[in-house]
Amino acid sequence: MLRSRSKIGALVAIIISFALACLVNVTTKDATFFGLFYIPLVFAALFFDAWGGVLVSLGAAAVLFLVSDVSFTQMGIEILTMLMMGLVLDRISKKLKDSCDRLEHFSMVDKLTGLHNYGYFIDRIGEEKERADRFGSKLSLIMLDIDFFKPFNDKFGHAKGNELLKKMTKIINEQVRAVDIVARYGGEEFAVILPNTSGEAAEVAERIRRAVEEADFEGEKITISAGVVTYPTDADDELKLIDKVDQALSFSKERGRNRICVYSKDLVSDIKTGECDKDYAGR
Ligand code: GH3
Ligand code: MG
Ligand code: MG
Repeated sequence: MLRSRSKIGALVAIIISFALACLVNVTTKDATFFGLFYIPLVFAALFFDAWGGVLVSLGAAAVLFLVSDVSFTQMGIEILTMLMMGLVLDRISKKLKDSCDRLEHFSMVDKLTGLHNYGYFIDRIGEEKERADRFGSKLSLIMLDIDFFKPFNDKFGHAKGNELLKKMTKIINEQVRAVDIVARYGGEEFAVILPNTSGEAAEVAERIRRAVEEADFEGEKITISAGVVTYPTDADDELKLIDKVDQALSFSKERGRNRICVYSKDLVSDIKTGECDKDYAGR
């Protein structure tokens, strides 16, 4: 939207500056004012790539040919100079765009796991909430945390701990749909946003839990605990949703870890044992 708006602005600038250059060149019939055509050329090459620059160069050459008695050699040199400048500007703007895209990408990605980072997660959960409001749909959030990760780090070292985080990423990615958004929420906490989902989220979390339990990490068995919550059933905005999923995750930890707890209708229930805690919810 922003880009199309700036393109419209650039087009207006090209038309006005080209018309002004034509007016001055036609009224004065003096080739010294030919340089005015470089203004629309700059806009065209920056906003409409090399072809925009070529079009303006050809237009300027036609005006020059009609209004002044320059030689073909002089006109050829002018066109060539304009084309070269158009190409250079086109290259510079493409390089700048590439750099911006790469910067944007790295600002959203966690370097260790390659997952989306916390900043991206916060932006996306807000967007997904808006989408759910617009379409009257639901969305679920899973927050999961590795159990006893510190002792694992202490025993095997941080490098192996990092390998575990990467393996965990792979397991989570294998259990979710392509439309689900997996992010590294913090150190050893992962968040999964599941658009258009409600009841199934607990099953997804349980699938992840089982896959982790079955995997082998340096000969050790590792487990995860998770909380699950659904919008708008359990919270009316994304921050409350995060707060509630945190409560469900803490409940999983308190009940002994390696389990999934679902926040639902002001109750937190352990899907392993079916036990609920009325007082826990809303704390
Ligand atoms: P709990 O079952 O209660 O979650 O216990 P825990 O040991 O997993 O939790 P705790 O919060 O005590 O420790 C989290 C650990 O995660 C501590 C920190 O060293 C480790 N950690 C956080 N980020 C990274 C990381 O990027 N790499 C590695 N190797 N470890 C990390
Ligand atoms: Mg932990
Ligand atoms: Mg933690």
